[in-house]
Amino acid sequence: TANARVEEVEGRLNSFITGTPELALERAARVDERLRRGEEVRPWECVPIAIKDVLSTRGVRTTCGSRILENFEPVYEASALANFGPDPIMVGKANMDEFAMGSSTENSAYGPTRNPWDLSRVPGGSSGGSAAAVAAGEGWWALGTDTGGSVRQPAAFCGLVGLKPTYGRVSRYGLIAFASSLDQIGPMTRDVRDAALLLQAIAGHDPRDSTSADVEVPDYLSSLESGVEGLRIGIVRELTEAEGVEEAVREISLRTARSLEEAGAEVGEVSLPHASYGLPAYYIIAPAEVSSNLARYDGVRYGLRVPADGVHEMYRRTRARGFGDEVKRRIMLGTYALSAGYYEAYYGQAQKVRTKIIEDFRKAFTRYDVLLSPTCPTTAFELGEKVDDPLAMYANDICSIPASLAGIPAISIPGGTSRGLPVGVQLMGDYFSEPTLLRAARAAE
Ligand code: GLN
Repeated sequence: TANARVEEVEGRLNSFITGTPELALERAARVDERLRRGEEVRPWECVPIAIKDVLSTRGVRTTCGSRILENFEPVYEASALANFGPDPIMVGKANMDEFAMGSSTENSAYGPTRNPWDLSRVPGGSSGGSAAAVAAGEGWWALGTDTGGSVRQPAAFCGLVGLKPTYGRVSRYGLIAFASSLDQIGPMTRDVRDAALLLQAIAGHDPRDSTSADVEVPDYLSSLESGVEGLRIGIVRELTEAEGVEEAVREISLRTARSLEEAGAEVGEVSLPHASYGLPAYYIIAPAEVSSNLARYDGVRYGLRVPADGVHEMYRRTRARGFGDEVKRRIMLGTYALSAGYYEAYYGQAQKVRTKIIEDFRKAFTRYDVLLSPTCPTTAFELGEKVDDPLAMYANDICSIPASLAGIPAISIPGGTSRGLPVGVQLMGDYFSEPTLLRAARAAE
């Protein structure tokens, strides 16, 4: 049925860069066969999944939304998929902003994805293809990645649940790097229970990722229904009142807080004094890491090569043709911020701000178990509305970035609608507190 749905709506949505309907059918048949033989098959192995095209899939083209990887076929599978058994029922590789840089999926080299709720609007980004696919029923659930909000914001724009796990909870091995100190893979699902189940499938220690945490994976489903009696929830003042937060979005966030209070939680207000500096700090740190991570696309080892006389000219032409504008902008910003004479003023300062934000959260978590804010200031915006104005696009990440910089888990849940468009509410928790976060999200659902 996922395949039939893809056929029906894909022409209008463009959720996938590469559809894999035959592969999905073949693999589903093999899982079926295993079930018939009485072999153990875990629940998540039976569910058709959309996979963001930033995750390496063996033998299946993985473009990262970029021309530079147009014909790239990885020789191994991302570790996050290891628990899916030999045959993840993958319906396709989902569209995304090039190298996950963006908030609207308009930076894809393969055309934008449209929001199933309103085709004139963006699905969010960078995991916009994953979000649209699930919202439109082209896959039951999806994997996205979140560096500064790319799972949570598209989930919010498409009326889904999106979870960014604690940094280190899910292996990044086989995830094509954007900003390595921030990147995390996360579930995008229709409800909180599915998010818990999908997290169960992808979480765990992996020696092949040096930042992967050797922390036991709890049973995310067992405490899901225990309610929020006595849970302390803090509404983050700076993020709820942040510049550009629409009135309706604020209202819906506060309404979600009230419903948690009615369910037995203690609700108060909390301040994260440095949270609003997260946005500028992120837009130094992430590009700095980009300028280093993307140096590998030189036409020698991966993907596109534009031939030329001399190796430097070959690099130049390959990168000029292979990368889109936003990627080039970030490489230049990052190279500048890291260059001698500017390093302390930009990168050094941004790292200090990052530490301040971590300290703000540490303090807040001595008084509260879960923090609440909008996921992003607005509902889904129109295609073309912000694409020529990078600063306006970046500003959409103001509420999601602090949790990314701190490496704490954060989930976006649908809180309601404003003018027919979904509004996401964000819950943030302390390191490895996903069970509490999921439980609170479930109670607010
Ligand atoms: N919108 C943010 C950016 O462009 C976040 C992207 C992401 O989380 N991958 O960097």
